[in-house]
Amino acid sequence: MQNADGLTDRLDRPLRDLRVSVTDRCNFRCVYCMPKEVFDKNYRFLPKAELLSYEEILRVVQAAASLGVQKIRLTGGEPLVRRDLEVLVSGIRNVTGITDLSMTTNASLLTPSRAASLRDAGLQRVTVSLDAMDDETFKRVNDVGVPVQRVLDGIDAASAAGFEPVKVNMVVKKGLNEHSILPMARFFHRTRQILRFIEFMDVGNSNAWDLAHVTNSSEIAAVINAELPIQPARANYRGEVAKRWEYLDGGGEIGIISSVSDPFCGDCSRARLSATGSIYTCLFATHGYDLRPALRSSLDSSEHSNLTEQLARLWSRRADRYSETRRVSPGEGQPLTFRPKVEMSFIGG
Ligand code: SAM
Ligand code: SF4
Ligand code: SF4
Repeated sequence: MQNADGLTDRLDRPLRDLRVSVTDRCNFRCVYCMPKEVFDKNYRFLPKAELLSYEEILRVVQAAASLGVQKIRLTGGEPLVRRDLEVLVSGIRNVTGITDLSMTTNASLLTPSRAASLRDAGLQRVTVSLDAMDDETFKRVNDVGVPVQRVLDGIDAASAAGFEPVKVNMVVKKGLNEHSILPMARFFHRTRQILRFIEFMDVGNSNAWDLAHVTNSSEIAAVINAELPIQPARANYRGEVAKRWEYLDGGGEIGIISSVSDPFCGDCSRARLSATGSIYTCLFATHGYDLRPALRSSLDSSEHSNLTEQLARLWSRRADRYSETRRVSPGEGQPLTFRPKVEMSFIGG
């Protein structure tokens, strides 16, 4: 489908963002993402040979950019467990049309020298995930004993390297860390980093998601507003995932990502590339589309256009709007949340 903006899907949404998962591995076992009971020593992570090489990822990025993608986010698993990420960063930086290159990380491996080398390679923005300010809660979340200070050090390293402001993501899961909403807000209000709260989502099938464990965006806003008054702020651009709120005292802003209570599929312009080379047109998809045959076929002159054509075809057939449909009324059958879905650690957040 084509409109004045170029390629669009069946719901008239352009393709603007590509999230690139560089690995399915992670040094954390966050209970809402890679619970230890599933991701244990018997779990079969991808063998190295099955991962796309950086060169192959670059070819997908080039094809995506030729179709209108402007933003690339590196993610995983934990992107920093993959070696020489700087090589990929500098390659993507040189792709015509890519204007925004960012990374989401747990920051536990973000040393000052790593942050500086990523910055030098051309990474523009860093988002760090942190779910509590106290060690007891945070260790319960990451489940591998990493203390809060290690992540704060990573945030400091990112700031010192010039990634300012660093955005911080906090997933809120009822019964796990909702008591950390205010301590997190207080801390990042003081440091002026942009804190974004994410409703616990039913990504994949491993995290035992239940609506009862979702603290919704209005509850989150009310908790903060009671101590640090906030007001809604205008979106920076159409399709911005986080709803922005400003502190009335001028102390910066927060964001709330309400995928469950207030879905935003209508503006969703994101595709995801798994570490194995499959494209997913929705975070909650059951199947991806394997680009490897096109990528690994002989490198003749038609290869690039073949890849671009496949991507364009895929996007033009897309009609995903899972978050708007996940809840069915009683009597309408099994809620969508029980259908098989790809894991977050496989396709990235
Ligand atoms: N390992 C990196 C990190 O944690 O920042 C990047 C990958 S992680 C899958 C990307 C983001 O997804 C993180 O901010 C994480 O908190 C979020 N996430 C993972 N599982 C989630 C879930 N079930 N609901 C909401 N957000 C989730
Ligand atoms: Fe790892 Fe990120 Fe998932 Fe936590 S959220 S287990 S850090 S991939
Ligand atoms: Fe996009 Fe799918 Fe999320 Fe809707 S549910 S916003 S289509 S990724």
